[in-house]
Amino acid sequence: MNSYSDTIAAISTAAHPSAVSMVRLSGENAIEIAEKIFASRSGKSLRELSGYSALFGDVFDEQGVFDNAVALIFRAPKSYTGENTVEITVHGGIYLTKRLLRAAVSNGARLAQAGEFTKRAFLNGKMTLSQAEAVTSLISAQGAEQAKAALEAAEGRLFKESQNIKQKIVTLLGQIAAYCDYPDEDIVDVSRETLVSELEEIYAKLDKMTSGFERGSVIKSGVDTAIVGSPNVGKSTIMNLLSGFEKSIVTSIAGTTRDIVEDTVRVGNFTLRLSDTAGIRETEDTVESVGVERARKRLESAALILAVFDGSRALSKDDLDLIKAAQGKNCVAVINKDDLESKIDEVYIKSKFELCVKISAANNIGSDELCDAICSALEMYKLDGDARLLINERQYDCAKRAQNEILVALNATKSGHMPDMIAINLDEALRALLTLTGEEATQAVVNEIFSKFCVGK
Ligand code: GDP
Repeated sequence: MNSYSDTIAAISTAAHPSAVSMVRLSGENAIEIAEKIFASRSGKSLRELSGYSALFGDVFDEQGVFDNAVALIFRAPKSYTGENTVEITVHGGIYLTKRLLRAAVSNGARLAQAGEFTKRAFLNGKMTLSQAEAVTSLISAQGAEQAKAALEAAEGRLFKESQNIKQKIVTLLGQIAAYCDYPDEDIVDVSRETLVSELEEIYAKLDKMTSGFERGSVIKSGVDTAIVGSPNVGKSTIMNLLSGFEKSIVTSIAGTTRDIVEDTVRVGNFTLRLSDTAGIRETEDTVESVGVERARKRLESAALILAVFDGSRALSKDDLDLIKAAQGKNCVAVINKDDLESKIDEVYIKSKFELCVKISAANNIGSDELCDAICSALEMYKLDGDARLLINERQYDCAKRAQNEILVALNATKSGHMPDMIAINLDEALRALLTLTGEEATQAVVNEIFSKFCVGK
């Protein structure tokens, strides 16, 4: 068992040579321990300081002073962990910081485990579990969208929204219980219509949460993008242009890209999982026809299609087939080889595709326009503020479970089941939401969450 009366210490900055590094101490004896390894230049002791103030001085161990430093004091409960905390900042460098940490430990601190500062913050009621999780996401955020979502979660928006939904479920459960206890008395209105509309409202809120996460995951893990077109129009060249390095073989013999080459690239705020497919065309070659078949399937399943045409050629039957197949899909038409004399019916292509760009992939002309068109095609993945609430799979899992239970309850009510029949589903939904916010998370869940943290956070 962990004792939360002991004082923990860790290096809270990155273990690289840097301008400054910080060792953080948290716990009942944080200030006392800090005084054994830090002496201010002014002679003032850390003990005399009020919270949120700092002293300049020197850090020392049994061998003497080894650096000058700034010690910043936070007094319980007004600190990140809710405990007394001292942050001692020394010059950057692995040697100095480790020496400082060792000095702290030999004077009574214990080395912190991964995530232990944040775990203490959670256990001391400084933050909810979802806020604690947001801290990890903030640290590891790789893009603006992710960071924004994490920050909002850290500010407690997810917790508030979950409370709101939970309250609605609790009210419904109360009404159902009252109805079951006094079925003949007209004390509560649990008409089927009311139940259905309340359940629909709860379902919609959960759906907004989960679908926001699903769209967010697409942004994070990549939009499934297929580059399709007849052989030799320049698909591989476009792939290479977007990837920035050669991956699929570019050749002028038609039909050489026989399989699917995949790559992940970043375009604007989006990550695309690009696949350069075999050209779509009628073929007798059996190996190639397997590739063509796969290309057709990719065209069906991709979230975004780059339909490529060779601008220096008139539209072929294969091109016309592609135009037909791409209708109604999320698609950007790319007229390539714009450096050559144009022989293609641009007007026709433009009439069939909302987004159309002319580029010369081989000469790197028009790549900005291509990226802009891709971003426009993906506008629908832009998340509105409200949708961006859940930040990880665990939270998504809980919300999805609650959503499924509500759906079962909703369908049961619609098909005429008695209100007490759905109480069990409402109860399950409630439990899922309690796990989501951490109010009812098991020790195992809590440990699992904090084990993913880095030491020092
Ligand atoms: P894919 O079969 O559709 O993948 O086409 P490739 O990317 O292999 O390109 C076929 C041929 O067209 C190669 O010889 C490329 O060098 C050439 N090519 C690609 N893009 C351009 C371009 O913008 N202008 C010109 N002139 N040739 C290009």
